[in-house]
Amino acid sequence: MSDHTTFKTGGPADLWIRPEGECFPEYAAMLLESAHNERIPVFVLGGGANLAVSDEGIRGIVLDTGGYAGEMGSGEWGMGNGEEVPTPYSPLPTPHSLFFRAGTSVDDAVEIAAARSLSGMEFLAGMPGSIGGALWMNARCYDREMADVVRQVKVLEWNGIRTITPKKEDFSYKKSPFQGMDCLILAVSAALEEGESAVIRETISARRKDRETKGHYRCPSAGSAFKNNRAFGKPTGQIIDELGLKGFRVGGAQVAPWHGNIIINSGGARSADILALVKMVEDRVKEETGMELEREILFTGNFY
Ligand SMILES: Cc1cc2nc3c(=O)[nH]c(=O)nc-3n(C[C@H](O)[C@H](O)[C@H](O)COP(=O)(O)OP(=O)(O)OC[C@H]3O[C@@H](n4cnc5c(N)ncnc54)[C@H](O)[C@@H]3O)c2cc1C
Repeated sequence: MSDHTTFKTGGPADLWIRPEGECFPEYAAMLLESAHNERIPVFVLGGGANLAVSDEGIRGIVLDTGGYAGEMGSGEWGMGNGEEVPTPYSPLPTPHSLFFRAGTSVDDAVEIAAARSLSGMEFLAGMPGSIGGALWMNARCYDREMADVVRQVKVLEWNGIRTITPKKEDFSYKKSPFQGMDCLILAVSAALEEGESAVIRETISARRKDRETKGHYRCPSAGSAFKNNRAFGKPTGQIIDELGLKGFRVGGAQVAPWHGNIIINSGGARSADILALVKMVEDRVKEETGMELEREILFTGNFY
């Protein structure tokens, strides 16, 4: 799994499957049904940008959505149970919708919207991962979150496809309703607005530059290690920084010397190192401030 996660750590999956192209929904449906009947666990993988996978790997099947990427037409969107089939640019309830296959990289989705002069997705520019994963995580940055742009979602469960129209209140900070469902997000429709191309492009460049300046791409990581809790009164990175933990390391895992809330693979890290470092930071913050950090990195597979 080290080839499929931005941390570049993690052992092998029993079976890693990445169906390519338009056959994906049909193939994934067969796979989920068979796995359900045979009681084989299936882990759905997006861009692997929020994951630390166990050094022992993942038991069962990893279904990689990366081969099901790009914008989709209304015909393809209409798959499944025949509920409302909006067409792109249909007048109701929003004039401008785009439909993305789940494995579309976030950055590609941002570019697709920008090419149409559609505004609403710029906040995501430069964020690693897939649109499906971003929705599952309710990814957020620059005071906007996926819940602000999602309109409808096609989900695949072991017994079929359905269309969900989630409400904003179904989401909260880094929480989406999909986290409580045993489902694969197949496709996402985003409600966007007509914008000015130059302004959209400017915002996208500014977001990407800001991430670069903050050192997001300097070393393998999964972005923020911990959630930001408003009750703390300051960003989690600042709390960790004030305790002098920047640069602290366990094996190849290190608190980024330039950012307290990013844990990096500084070379040769194992996921066990990352977990040990996360626990160490949690303990120190609890001891010194009484605050309990909440993990944002998802630890997947067996950890001891
Ligand atoms: C440098 C860097 C910067 C980052 N900055 C931010 C940021 O600003 N804001 C932020 O919120 N996050 C940030 N992240 C974290 C990450 O980019 C997001 O959480 C992203 O949305 C994860 O998407 P993914 O496709 O990589 O999901 P993965 O890591 O592959 O999976 C995450 C979870 O989603 C589930 N999942 C993925 N795809 C699907 C699907 N199609 N159907 C059902 N379940 C699915 C997986 O099973 C898993 O439980 C950053 C990461 C990095 C490396």
